[in-house]
Amino acid sequence: MPEHVVRLPNGITMPTLGQGTWFMGESSSAKKEEIAALQHGIDLGMTLIDTAEMYASGGAEKVTGEAIAGRRDKIFLVSKVLPGNASRKGTVAALERSLQRLKTDYLDLYLLHWRGGYPLSETFEAMEQLVDAGKIRAYGVSNFDLDDMEEAAQYDNGNICVNQVLYNLASRGIEWDLLPWQKKRNIPVMAYSPLYQTRLLKSSGLKRVAEKLSITPAQLALAWLLHQGTVPIPKSSSLRRVEENRKAWDITLDQSVLDELDAIFPPPDHKMPLDVL
Ligand code: NAP
Repeated sequence: MPEHVVRLPNGITMPTLGQGTWFMGESSSAKKEEIAALQHGIDLGMTLIDTAEMYASGGAEKVTGEAIAGRRDKIFLVSKVLPGNASRKGTVAALERSLQRLKTDYLDLYLLHWRGGYPLSETFEAMEQLVDAGKIRAYGVSNFDLDDMEEAAQYDNGNICVNQVLYNLASRGIEWDLLPWQKKRNIPVMAYSPLYQTRLLKSSGLKRVAEKLSITPAQLALAWLLHQGTVPIPKSSSLRRVEENRKAWDITLDQSVLDELDAIFPPPDHKMPLDVL
């Protein structure tokens, strides 16, 4: 298997570090910068792009569509259906709208953004139909805690390929039960808000350890998520910060650093409800 990829339960591979797009596509003045940042990330190998129909009401998908134009074959493209659209017919219709905005004819991965009112069996039937039609290569879920995953496992025929949840050094609750459960089944965790939307970067402890390693706090936060076997998807609209984030792939953390981080950001010692944003 090539470096920096993980194999999903259905056999396809996904890059282990990606780029988020939340808050992109909100303003026309920022669009050029956002497209340039995504393209720079792609050129550096961060070809996984995570978006959603929710972000900027489709605006982030449009920005992504422009960023990947002419290079679709290099991209691992992820989008999400809103729970209010996740009926059998609604999921298929939402996917068609996303594809139009993204100017492509397939997604690599389609996620249910969070659990809503429609039965999971109905949403997954639609997802299976989309896989069979070649419109998506894989499907998964987001913001599912362990009880949701256990319930989902009754309806997905073993086909859920990913669960995307909030995970970073300051929010480690999933290590108690969800992360081990997924690891056992080889269902990767995509770690959203890996920098806690910059809140994590203000930690004096994180800064101290990063400084000792001559790396930045963001690189340390991302390298730790990679070490945990998860797939972080930091969002940046800055060429410099995209470059900085990419370098997380080249960092190896030794046991003494991991111990120091555990002391600053203790792992959970009891079940904690899944954190969400
Ligand atoms: P994040 O990636 O933790 O943080 C993004 C913020 O960090 C931005 O303000 C960005 O600013 C800044 N930043 C990025 N790289 C940096 C660096 N090296 N140094 C300093 N600041 C840096 O938060 P997020 O956007 O919430 O999460 C990432 C992605 O996960 C989202 O974009 C979205 O695709 C996905 N997500 C999914 C869900 C879900 O429910 N499934 C929820 C939240 C997020 P600049 O742009 O100015 O660099």
